[in-house]
Amino acid sequence: MTPVDLGVPRLRRSPSKDADAPRFATGALVDQHGRTARDLRVSLTDRCNLRCHYCMPPEGLPWLERSRVLDDEETIRLIQVAVRDLGVHEVRFTGGEPLLRKGLERIVAATTALRTDTGEPVRTSLTTNGIGLHRRAAALAEAGLTRVNVSLDTLRPDRFAEITRRDRLADVLAGISAAAAAGLAPVKVNAVLLRGTNDDEAADLLRWALEGGYRLRFIEQMPLDPHGTWRREDMITAEEILAALQAEFTLLPRPDSARGAAPAETWDVVGADGLLGDVGIIASVTRPFCGDCDRTRLTADGQVRTCLFSSTETDLRDAMRSGADDASLAATWRAAMWGKLPGHDIDDPAFLHPTRPMSAIGG
Ligand code: SAM
Ligand code: SF4
Repeated sequence: MTPVDLGVPRLRRSPSKDADAPRFATGALVDQHGRTARDLRVSLTDRCNLRCHYCMPPEGLPWLERSRVLDDEETIRLIQVAVRDLGVHEVRFTGGEPLLRKGLERIVAATTALRTDTGEPVRTSLTTNGIGLHRRAAALAEAGLTRVNVSLDTLRPDRFAEITRRDRLADVLAGISAAAAAGLAPVKVNAVLLRGTNDDEAADLLRWALEGGYRLRFIEQMPLDPHGTWRREDMITAEEILAALQAEFTLLPRPDSARGAAPAETWDVVGADGLLGDVGIIASVTRPFCGDCDRTRLTADGQVRTCLFSSTETDLRDAMRSGADDASLAATWRAAMWGKLPGHDIDDPAFLHPTRPMSAIGG
């Protein structure tokens, strides 16, 4: 296994394959800090049809060469290894924009045909910007997709165009309705609030989500922008979001015990007639949840990342293309996960900004 040099100082070395081969020959994806990865995030492309300004520059990014991106068969094979040999229970497809991937329905169908080590169907979801979802929701449901997360930061067309640099709000709203109608439920909606842009919309977004039966999740903005311009003081914190929501809604916190490995802290929203729905906040920066993290990641070019913020990656693509068998790919993946760091330390002054932006890692 060869960690890819990302041009930043390494925080760790991946374990040596030869010395550790017997240790990583069987079992689930455990790490040295007692965590087990059951949730696989698969990025299907680094490309996108929006240009959210906190994620991508107007001209886009230097896209991965096609030949470096896993094809459908290679992607399906690595997902099979993860589920069959490594104890993964849930697979989430992301990108870039995963709806740009032509083989998406095929990859979803192959994934949902797999059974976990407890004999259950694999749970699958898609994180998408929703453009074109109205045309594909039914086929994705047919392929067995369990549900979708659609990203939507504003309900105002002018702001949508400003944030994403494309005038496509109507497409996204149509995609959300179509997903719900196709049974891809519960539809979760992810929103990032940006200071001075849409930070007055927390309550409006929640009102809209409750009316539509969608589950809204706010995400604190993380230092994953391509130009490294993120500044902590610009970020809208979980505390600010909560205060804005509490000014208009009655929120009752769900007990921490109900959270499990979920990144969102969740509140029930109650009205005079009872429960209206819920709302979550993913406070990756101010309230990190690394101790409960159960995720492993595969980039579109076949690199295992143990964390969004990793400074090393482990190459499965070249191993696979050089003839590695499934047992060897699984052992390499286990060894990579064993070295997962205890936390990302975003709030530490010594924090190193990952050299790949969010869209290239898979958000
Ligand atoms: N294109 C798809 C989408 O927008 O849902 C999938 C990929 S996108 C990178 C996944 C999620 O990451 C989106 O909800 C987006 O808002 C969020 N995101 C992107 N950059 C982020 C950042 N720097 N901090 C927090 N969330 C971010
Ligand atoms: Fe594209 Fe998603 Fe990034 Fe927006 S957040 S530019 S939709 S990858």
